Amino acid sequence: MSRAVLITGAARGIGRACALKFAKEGWDVIACYARAQHAAQSLEQEIRQMGMQCRCLQVDVTDRAAVHRLVLLAQAEFGALDAVVCNAGIAQQKLFADITEDDWDHMFDVNVKGMYHVIHEALPQMLDRQAGSIVTISSVWGQTGGSCEVHYSASKAAVIGMTKALAKELGLSGIRVNCVAPGVIDTDMNRMHGEDVMHALAEDTPLGRNGTPEEVADAVYWLASDQARFVTGQVIGVNGGFYI
Ligand code: NAD
Repeated sequence: MSRAVLITGAARGIGRACALKFAKEGWDVIACYARAQHAAQSLEQEIRQMGMQCRCLQVDVTDRAAVHRLVLLAQAEFGALDAVVCNAGIAQQKLFADITEDDWDHMFDVNVKGMYHVIHEALPQMLDRQAGSIVTISSVWGQTGGSCEVHYSASKAAVIGMTKALAKELGLSGIRVNCVAPGVIDTDMNRMHGEDVMHALAEDTPLGRNGTPEEVADAVYWLASDQARFVTGQVIGVNGGFYI
């Protein structure tokens, strides 16, 4: 029987690469996205062509009721969730002095509270089965702090705290919780940087380049899979050595 994974923010970038990786490994995928409807439809098609089931729905992770419906649908269509990947996230570049209260709240609503909603809704069925794996996505900036990204860095540091605390709380329930902290990855999120900035970041990376969404997806999949059955509470940097 195939296994099922719930992935947030899967229409594009790292989330999409995760969805395709899980499907390639024989998992059914239930996913959500914020806006990119065409991309979501093409993801569903691509995964179905691989012989796996996929539903990719427009669900804002800040909307608790919508997340609740997503998890109910996942259960109804795919049965129990074996893994959850909390990937949906936003970034913003601003001087700290220019960050408004709305900027701050929105960053935490999506990057932290959205993750709380998704895990809180998916957890009861994992607790019932005393099994499951949760992978959260933080960022190298949540580990080191990024200039002009104080609210983003703070939200991604919160993700690490949440991961470690949950791993301790859920270990005896047979549920593992781990985190991937990507370095600079070539996705739409980084389009706000010019090519010169992306080039400079690559030069600051010991492996001499920026990463791909697929390289992050490989780590996410490994953490979710039984290959990592004795791994919990860990933060795995997929950053080319940018932060060691
Ligand atoms: P992206 O902007 O390409 O994709 C983000 C995805 O999240 C999109 O599918 C979007 O629809 C979804 N999303 C955003 N807000 C949402 C909401 N409120 N509800 C539901 N979905 C929502 O970005 P990406 O680079 O693929 O980033 C994925 C994750 O990786 C994010 O959490 C990001 O912070 C993290 N990350 C990215 C990088 C990088 O360099 N790209 C580095 C470190 C961490």
